[in-house]
Amino acid sequence: MTPGSNPRYPVFLALHGRRVLVVGGGPVAARRARDLVSAGARVEVVAPFANEDVVELAAAGDLVWHRRDFEVGDVADAWLVHTATGEPAVDELVASTAEAARIWCVRADDATQSSAWRPAVARHGDVTVAVSGGGDPGRATALRDAVQLLLEQGALPVRPRRAPATGRVTLVGGGPGDPGLITVRGRRLLAEADVVVVDRLGPRGLLDELEDDVEVIEAGKAPHAHTLSQEEINDLLVQRAGEGKRVVRLKGGDPYVLGRGGEEAIACVAAGIPVEVVPGVTSAVAVPAVAGIPVTHRGLARGFAVVTAHDGEVDWTAYARIEGTLVLLMGVTKLRTSAAALVDAGRPASTPVAIVERGTTQDQRTTVGTLADIADRAAASGVTSPAVVVVGEVAGLHRVLAEGATQAESSGAEEITSRGAG
Ligand code: SAH
Repeated sequence: MTPGSNPRYPVFLALHGRRVLVVGGGPVAARRARDLVSAGARVEVVAPFANEDVVELAAAGDLVWHRRDFEVGDVADAWLVHTATGEPAVDELVASTAEAARIWCVRADDATQSSAWRPAVARHGDVTVAVSGGGDPGRATALRDAVQLLLEQGALPVRPRRAPATGRVTLVGGGPGDPGLITVRGRRLLAEADVVVVDRLGPRGLLDELEDDVEVIEAGKAPHAHTLSQEEINDLLVQRAGEGKRVVRLKGGDPYVLGRGGEEAIACVAAGIPVEVVPGVTSAVAVPAVAGIPVTHRGLARGFAVVTAHDGEVDWTAYARIEGTLVLLMGVTKLRTSAAALVDAGRPASTPVAIVERGTTQDQRTTVGTLADIADRAAASGVTSPAVVVVGEVAGLHRVLAEGATQAESSGAEEITSRGAG
């Protein structure tokens, strides 16, 4: 064996159900043992003392711990040996015993004397990238971390090239717009999609990262674009998935918060198409948050309700009675009637209201007022959709918490704060 001088031969091992020996009970051995258990190996640890992880795994029946010193007979019948005792003489004995038995042995103390090496590993769904640093573990780890980050950012071409056995639909909540506010899972599934059906709202910036041959379909609601009806969207999802495609329905916020995601899921289920939902950061909570408005706050609001103000059929009397914050989505066009209805139903006209337009984007802007004057203020400053309307005492916290909200003292000027200009 002339380790180090020869190129290494990478290989992945199917260890499921196979006996693997780990000698040593310290943190390195424990980490290896845990990894091996995850890979389904039948792990046996030999060590006079072991750290908590090993003890726990043993107690759970995930591995067997022999509480004693290593004996040469231990390697027999093992498919693989790891030695990490912290004592070079013991590691040497384990390695040479394994070598004589033609069993691969990973030595933690001295990689150059090892017959096998454990690479640094980046994982992403079912993708595994194994990295060797040419005998420099720090270099391998640094490179692995960089790869892991790129994988998580969806910056590497992880899209499967082999067609799936069956197509599927994933309803991905994209968050309110900032690409940093999609979930890791959502981002991964987006990077793996063959077809992406998108709305106007949500993290549209992520579309630039899709590979050229990914089919991107605009579901519409863009001012001048053709808008697909909900039924057409449902049919499209079912049809593309039926062709064996991985379809991602990328939606703004959370798919099941006033997003009609439930209808899309039901359409898939009815057509026998596998469908999964990946929850998202809803604008109902996140957009107030980034404008310095917690939807609940000790002493101000014990709870909150989210309602669409769009369809004109809201029972404002009922919502007015709810203790806590009211969050109105799609609330711009009917703002005047909604505010008046809430006052008629008993909410004080002096209740603070904040309207946050285009939350989490560069053009975020907040307009504040009261139920009595918010409609006039919104009209004066030209408030447009998309915007979240927050009704309740918490809206007053905007002034305290929002970035750049502290400077203006003169009346009127403090009512509007922009994130871009702030
Ligand atoms: N499913 C989405 C809501 C869809 S309804 C969610 O969970 O966020 C569309 C409404 O959401 C818009 O009319 C607006 O009221 C709100 N909205 C979505 N994104 C927004 C944003 N970035 N800024 C302000 N309001 C937003």
